[in-house]
Amino acid sequence: MLMRAAVLTEYGKPMEIHEADISDPGPGEVRVQVKASGVCGSDLKAIDGKSPVVSRLPFILGHESAGIVESVGAGVSAVKPGDHVVVSMSGPCGRCPACGAGRFHLCSGPDRIATIMGGPPRVHLDGVETRRFIGIGSFAEYAVVREAACVKIAKDAPFDAMCLLACGVITGVGAVLNVARVEHGAAVLVVGCGGVGLNVIQGAVLAGATTIIAADVAEQKLKLAERFGATHTLIPADLPAQVAEIVRGGVDHAFDVTGVPGVLASAFAATAPGGTTVMVGSPPQGRPAQIEPGLLFASRRLMGTQGGDSAPHRDLPMLAALAQQGRLDLSGLISERLPLERINEAVEHTRQGAVARTVITF
Ligand SMILES: [Zn+2]
Ligand SMILES: [Zn+2]
Repeated sequence: MLMRAAVLTEYGKPMEIHEADISDPGPGEVRVQVKASGVCGSDLKAIDGKSPVVSRLPFILGHESAGIVESVGAGVSAVKPGDHVVVSMSGPCGRCPACGAGRFHLCSGPDRIATIMGGPPRVHLDGVETRRFIGIGSFAEYAVVREAACVKIAKDAPFDAMCLLACGVITGVGAVLNVARVEHGAAVLVVGCGGVGLNVIQGAVLAGATTIIAADVAEQKLKLAERFGATHTLIPADLPAQVAEIVRGGVDHAFDVTGVPGVLASAFAATAPGGTTVMVGSPPQGRPAQIEPGLLFASRRLMGTQGGDSAPHRDLPMLAALAQQGRLDLSGLISERLPLERINEAVEHTRQGAVARTVITF
């Protein structure tokens, strides 16, 4: 079947809209008519040729999507044509040792690993195999994805908001609930208040944190942070000292959502003994963090996370329910909606950091 897709043919260059051929879903696969797809920092990294999972062009980016099931392959029973779904980033296999232990984000099933590396060949452009970002590739009218990645949502739920659950929201909220396990009354520091950072903030609100300090170099992002529940805001200079002025002894939990070298170590130094620090932002490659061992010795913990350590079939329905109840703000995360033809503008706006999230709508 022919579809329009934004295709990356050269690193660092704008994507081009092409008519590409997408195959029928194979066994255990689902073809989704994409209705909305958010633009994420990982897409930008891939465009710049800095993503380990995008090693061969041409390529279709986009991994934060929601849509309607158009057709299903052999053996698919979890969804049927017409169902509305969020396409989760990880379709865990359910059978490997990690899945058996309930650690679905660490699934090492062969299908899932192949998916992360671009998926089986399902899209071709002029006969050339076109890989898809973590086996999704949702900057296109259709995507063939694994059944295990599809999480059903209500038919009246707005696609442009629901798509955000798949990456930005679950990464931020999951870092709070699944990784740090923030407790009621905790003091929290969030460094970096972009699309994911705002979700760390609203995750901290959900967890019952009473002090939520938002730090960012951009003043307009701090305004947004307040709207999402930050109780204090600051422009980082000497983080441990600034934080100590607000919470004596340091915060219980710190989140580095910047990926900027140096931030992780200063966020860590701003925590109290016994505190946790979670690196949520994508890591600055080859730039080691300078952690003071004496601080670590005082029962502090330094943690990483992949997409909020999510169990998609548990977490995404929960987040959708919270959004429906008005306890999770999704529409406030969307700063603009653009059609697929304007994908490169969307990328530019995301790069400038001027927006929480740009969503491509179909
Ligand atoms: Zn993402
Ligand atoms: Zn698995």
